[in-house]
Amino acid sequence: MTETTAFIRRENPAEGVARIVLARPEMRNAQSPELLYQLDAALAAAAHDAAVKVIVLAADGPDFSSGHDLKAGFALPCEPVATIASGLDEPGAAGHYAFECEAYLGLCRRWRDIPKPTIASAQGRTIAGGLMLLWPMDIIVAADNATFSDPVTAFGVNGVEYFTHAWELGARRAKELLFTGGILDASEAHQLGMVNHIVPAAELDAATLALAVRIAARPAFGLRLAKESINRSLDAQGQQVALDTALALHNLGHAHNVKQFDSIIDPRGAEVIRAGAQT
Ligand code: ZN
Repeated sequence: MTETTAFIRRENPAEGVARIVLARPEMRNAQSPELLYQLDAALAAAAHDAAVKVIVLAADGPDFSSGHDLKAGFALPCEPVATIASGLDEPGAAGHYAFECEAYLGLCRRWRDIPKPTIASAQGRTIAGGLMLLWPMDIIVAADNATFSDPVTAFGVNGVEYFTHAWELGARRAKELLFTGGILDASEAHQLGMVNHIVPAAELDAATLALAVRIAARPAFGLRLAKESINRSLDAQGQQVALDTALALHNLGHAHNVKQFDSIIDPRGAEVIRAGAQT
């Protein structure tokens, strides 16, 4: 069975394994609201499919994801699924905050708590919003050419809306990455524990599938209990409260930018990022 929507492809490469692919390579898998909700539908279908024990999230093209597609706007393409969203059509900061609670943090939380193991398979660049597709997954396998960055302090906000940086990288490295807008390569991400395995780019699909097949051989309920236990451990450390606080601060940044620049991001950001890349 292969199901395809405009931006997402579902494959079943082995017994017990669903492979969901970001299929917008010409836009470097930039996330329009349509892509996010097609991804959510595919993940939910795999979660509900009794034949699926492990879900792989992969990406077509040279890069995993270039982040949000800001040109695509901020309207939900369907009814909210992650929150009882209210105020989506409100003016001021209210409408955009409701959108980010639902379409960014809300979806990420749903994906993070899918009661089956999930494995992300990342090649090339993952930038800012791209991290919110990667970090909610349980295991990350990276190609040796993978890089990760979150340069959005240049745009006057704190970082990507799924703000687990301190858990992914440790507090000091997370701060440096955010403050400088620099790039983390696959080997440093591996050293920090953000990435489970690095493999040659040509072997990424096969290595990810081999790990998925190995996990799929174990009982589904044991896997679910292990996942929930780890996620609740993170919750006990305060991760959920930290996520809510960071999203509120992120939206304070957006509101400030709207007041200052009539745009949710500081329009000088791209120039700051270009200048930083040359140093
Ligand atoms: Zn935002």
